[in-house]
Amino acid sequence: MAYKWPALDYERVANIRSLAEKCVETLNGKSLFEQFMQQQIVEITLRPLFTLGGMAYEAKKNGLVVYLLHKKEDWPASDAKCITLAHELGHSFGWEMNGVGLVAKQVWRPREGAPKDIESLEEFADTFAYLWLSYPKNRKSLTKFLEKYKAEKDEEQLTIDVRALWPS
Ligand SMILES: [Zn+2]
Repeated sequence: MAYKWPALDYERVANIRSLAEKCVETLNGKSLFEQFMQQQIVEITLRPLFTLGGMAYEAKKNGLVVYLLHKKEDWPASDAKCITLAHELGHSFGWEMNGVGLVAKQVWRPREGAPKDIESLEEFADTFAYLWLSYPKNRKSLTKFLEKYKAEKDEEQLTIDVRALWPS
């Protein structure tokens, strides 16, 4: 029997691309801030990392924190940062609100010893990033958003509080 990532059955889609399209659609026409807020992304931290990026739920901040690789000598590198941020935005769909806070959707988590689940999860996030960035509005506003912090590029670490940037 062909392998199927459990999230596909749960979300009632035939394949990973359809799932990514469905998720991108829920963000369509919204500003970058509205999209971050909808996906519970409350902070973006640029800092030295061993990977390109990552995401973690932080209960104290009541939301998701995205980490992006940042090296003092490596700016703009906007493309890499944009792609990674879009990829992490995709991963944010694997979380949902319950009464207590954000919890990981079990069917979106890799099952223990199921490398295919991890592959599917990463393929989803990459496909999501590709589709999301294919909207010029998304790409432009994300590039503009990151460019705003270029002046602080010499900082070792940059923390962007998304909620503080919400247009009043
Ligand atoms: Zn990933």
